Amino acid sequence: MSSRLNRRSLLLSPAMAAAAAQAPSGKRPIVISSANGLLCCERARTLIERGHDTLDAVVSGVGIVEDDPKDTSVGYGGLPNEEGIVELDACVMHGPTRRAGSVASLRNIKNPAKVAKLVMEMTDHVMIVGEGALRFARTMGFKEENLLTEQTRLAWLVWKQSLRDGEGRNNWTDGLDAPLKKPTAALRQLFPNATEETLAWAQHVARFPTTGTINCLALNAKGEMSGCTTTSGLAWKIPGRIGDSPVIGAGLYVDQEVGAAGSTGRGEENIRVCGAHTIVEAMRQGKSPNEACLEALRRIARNYDQDLTRLKKFDITFYALRKDGAMGSAGLFAGQRYAVNDGGSSRLLDCVSLYDRK
Ligand code: ASP
Repeated sequence: MSSRLNRRSLLLSPAMAAAAAQAPSGKRPIVISSANGLLCCERARTLIERGHDTLDAVVSGVGIVEDDPKDTSVGYGGLPNEEGIVELDACVMHGPTRRAGSVASLRNIKNPAKVAKLVMEMTDHVMIVGEGALRFARTMGFKEENLLTEQTRLAWLVWKQSLRDGEGRNNWTDGLDAPLKKPTAALRQLFPNATEETLAWAQHVARFPTTGTINCLALNAKGEMSGCTTTSGLAWKIPGRIGDSPVIGAGLYVDQEVGAAGSTGRGEENIRVCGAHTIVEAMRQGKSPNEACLEALRRIARNYDQDLTRLKKFDITFYALRKDGAMGSAGLFAGQRYAVNDGGSSRLLDCVSLYDRK
């Protein structure tokens, strides 16, 4: 998470969080997002109050995170695929017009959410991927740039050094033809400005590939809703791997009659339960946002026969905002938070969870 805000002052007690999560907000605009979206929610809510459309607002909000090199799960500075190339996925849904747009495996363009919105607005398609998505972005005037930062290039090299063949060999580290340097010494030579903290972070993400993403959902005073999800996906993925984030119905779903939902976490699990659509349908049947998110998580747990040994190997969090302003979020395991803004500064609320702890 990359917030520059003081997180401690934004946290609510679990009791306050539960009360806030259940209370419909009346006519105030509400924006919620994954925990890395404190600034995103604030920008989106401010734009909505100034009269901007909810979709313009969320796309502008997530742009803060896409532009931020310190968030290594989204946009510029996102962790790359196994070849060191950053591939981004994003989608948008606009409640009032019931339309959607999506891009996946998009390279060299740091704001895939904006491109997804143009797929929705400028084409007769919903989803464009890979080379076609890049050509579309170029046609729309987007500037191409290298999305790999020095920090993420370092992490990628550390990951490559960590791989081994059946004999324990790796061409990217010391060996017969490069006997003198230990991997860390070579890294220090290549990245003289990297701090110990950055090196430690790179070693950690090489061992435990991170996921990330931002999902953002908005409701204005007229009851109009929109949503957006944008990500660099799973670190070290096979080129072309697409997670749930750009998949309408999995990483995001908005139904103007009911509400909106989205997700972050291991996309493979979400795609198999169409999580966001499942949540919106559960809310249509009368479930609260928290209960609806838990229902989607139960389906994921069921896919593993509730086997905690396997479930503990990943995490996933759902977010939901109902048309009446009720909101909620649930993680597979406790300890997750989500961001909310319904006036003033954004705050973090505790998510409910399916399981207490990993
Ligand atoms: N859901 C994203 C994906 O699977 C990653 C994440 O949210 O952590 O690509």
